Amino acid sequence: MKIAILGCGVTGLSAARELAQHGIEAVLFDKSRGVGGRMSTRYADAWEFDHGAQYFTVQDSDFQTEIDVAMADGVVSQWNAKALYLKTGALSADTGRPRYVGQPRMNSLPKYWAKNLDIHLGCRVASVTQEKGWTLIFEDGTTQSGFDGVISTLPPAQAEQVLPDNFAKRRAVKSAQMHVCFCLMIGLSVPIDPGWDTLRVKNLPIDWIAMNNAKPGRSKAVGTIVVHSEATWSDENADTDREEVQAVMLKSASALLGLPLENAPHIALHRWLYASSKTSPDIPCLRGSGLVVAGDWCLGGRVQGAWLSGRAAAQAFL
Ligand SMILES: Cc1cc2nc3c(=O)[nH]c(=O)nc-3n(C[C@H](O)[C@H](O)[C@H](O)COP(=O)(O)OP(=O)(O)OC[C@H]3O[C@@H](n4cnc5c(N)ncnc54)[C@H](O)[C@@H]3O)c2cc1C
Repeated sequence: MKIAILGCGVTGLSAARELAQHGIEAVLFDKSRGVGGRMSTRYADAWEFDHGAQYFTVQDSDFQTEIDVAMADGVVSQWNAKALYLKTGALSADTGRPRYVGQPRMNSLPKYWAKNLDIHLGCRVASVTQEKGWTLIFEDGTTQSGFDGVISTLPPAQAEQVLPDNFAKRRAVKSAQMHVCFCLMIGLSVPIDPGWDTLRVKNLPIDWIAMNNAKPGRSKAVGTIVVHSEATWSDENADTDREEVQAVMLKSASALLGLPLENAPHIALHRWLYASSKTSPDIPCLRGSGLVVAGDWCLGGRVQGAWLSGRAAAQAFL
């Protein structure tokens, strides 16, 4: 069997690794220049920002085993962050399960999982068709055929565009919605210590600030601050002028830090159009005949959900 996997984020990599463990050939395709999808790192001069997933938590015992192996190999660390939560003017500890991060950067983990896989980058899939076998048609008009099955791990809106019209679970894909998120990246010449590493906030245009440089394995020579916008505000401002979005987020972050950030040596904004799940089918994957749709959004989002969904999609072929 030879299975085509669309997307090289955590879901796609998890599916490919599960297939490989059972001797099934997997060929992965991604439109981006690197692997990892939303578990990613942005490089800018002296600064590096984990501008997608900030950390991940583990509840599933099989996922824990996988993470333990990655920790033993030095590509994952537990992050004992000083984490605070600001709600209606009061600060409290932002408690929860242990937080894990890729080391030395978030994309170290997907890069580690990608080793020895057959990966084709810079390939944007335009459509998927079935005649004798399965064929992928790319944006540039080229094709790849001869697959016995296909796993899509694209966000739902993007999956919907490439799936064949007769895919049985099309309605479930269509009804899954995702929130937008803006990520503001601020580079400083030295790190700052506001008394916390992460601050979760309520009722503001932003809902998260992290001192990225405080994560294990990151350079302590410069300061790197990551700010995420709040989900509802992000959806409402998805098409607002970027300079305006940046100004609002900078103002909010400056006020929270008690530090003017407008003249920081590096400021950049990234828009994630499909960042986190708004509505989810809440099943590991959507199975059709020879075509399985997976992704973090099938299980409500997050890194662990992506890993579980990818494994379930692969198991559908075993
Ligand atoms: C701002 C932000 C903060 C987050 N914070 C956390 C967090 O703190 N903790 C946590 O657990 N999770 C967090 N997440 C979620 C986490 O990043 C995701 O759950 C996980 O990375 C999703 O993996 P995935 O493989 O399902 O999807 P993705 O990573 O989105 O992978 C899909 C891949 O498909 C590719 N693709 C799309 N269209 C096409 C096409 N037509 N052809 C070819 N390739 C295509 C994309 O390039 C991408 O690489 C966050 C996400 C964002 C954006």
